[in-house]
Amino acid sequence: MTPTATLFVKPGKERSLLRRHPWLYAGAIDRIDGRPASGDLVRVASPDGRFLAWAAFSPASSLRARAWSFREQERPDEAWLRGRITESVARRAALSARTDAVRLVFGEADRLPGLIVDRYDGQLVVQLMAAGVEAWREAIVDALVAATGCADVYERSDAASREREGLAPREGVLRGRAPQAPVPVTEDGVRYLVDVLRGHKTGFYIDQRDNRRLVASLAQGKRLLNCFCYTGGFTLAALRAGAAEAVSVDSSADALAAGRAQQDLNGLRAPSDWVQADVFEILRALHAQGRQFDLIVLDPPKFAPSVQHLERASRAYKQLSLAALRLLAPEGRLFTFSCSGAMSVELFQKVVAGAVFDAQVDAQMLGRLQAGEDHPVAMTHPEGEYLKGLMLRRI
Ligand code: SAH
Repeated sequence: MTPTATLFVKPGKERSLLRRHPWLYAGAIDRIDGRPASGDLVRVASPDGRFLAWAAFSPASSLRARAWSFREQERPDEAWLRGRITESVARRAALSARTDAVRLVFGEADRLPGLIVDRYDGQLVVQLMAAGVEAWREAIVDALVAATGCADVYERSDAASREREGLAPREGVLRGRAPQAPVPVTEDGVRYLVDVLRGHKTGFYIDQRDNRRLVASLAQGKRLLNCFCYTGGFTLAALRAGAAEAVSVDSSADALAAGRAQQDLNGLRAPSDWVQADVFEILRALHAQGRQFDLIVLDPPKFAPSVQHLERASRAYKQLSLAALRLLAPEGRLFTFSCSGAMSVELFQKVVAGAVFDAQVDAQMLGRLQAGEDHPVAMTHPEGEYLKGLMLRRI
């Protein structure tokens, strides 16, 4: 690819690029030498013309360019792109011993801004969410097929992210056939059915793999309450590990039906209720009934899509943790999560501490939880960290 322009940054605005942060906002650009089109390769330079980065240009977005590379001799072309994709896929190789549901490419963290690729057995699901990767969609899909040997590639790009980049929504088959039915995968010995066409995200919460394993490791003989269960990932992992009973709550009837079907698929017979309800309400109702649980998972949807929503989101996270703590048996454990990127680990811990205080219980923090290693965070791009959780023990 030949660069079509040079973007000169304003004096003082080269700092973050020199520190290898991959985003260049419109306000940091002084002038553009050339007339780049959406997705074009551009050279980013300091006010005096020194090389800073090779980047993809995105005229519609306030995030005007995303860096591909910070080395002048590493000018992106198709061979380079194939290399980055092959490396990302290779990084996940060890996970195949545990699972065939893996995130193969995670955007900025894998130095491929805007690209997400998940693998469910032989099915790839791709999200192209920035102008740069959109311009290279064919080359990207070819490279993915070559690196994985998967013949079936489906696109599930998030429409809102594409809109911010001035791109039309896209969904559908990219290579091979569309999945005719949910794709079966096996993770740590549990079978799941992933609805690639209609499920959340690309069909499954791959990011919670290690936390499912953690909950399972503690589940033998225990009573589990799984709130915001979706298709029941935590429930199935716990039941397979010998949980005595499970109550799984979600507002979506379809998600619950999928959860129940997966329980049957795995031949898991322990008492298990799949309850369609509002979690905020059912936590109160269970408390009124005097119910207690040994393990409680709270994994709600993103309450804070941006920093403007943090205050309201904090109240909701606090309310949930507070209500869950009251249902926890002595020595029971709470796994409470936030997938809001705008909420820092520190703030989330403060919010949960407030819930412990208001619940008037004593609790220990046993660990901080995060997404699995196929969802890495670039050290220069902390914005990529979104999933955070705490494991508490009530004493
Ligand atoms: N824990 C899940 C993922 C949760 S996604 C997993 O590991 O797979 C969030 C879920 O919360 C969605 O399934 C959504 O249907 C549900 N949800 C959102 N608001 C809710 C509410 N107020 N009460 C119950 N469920 C809710």
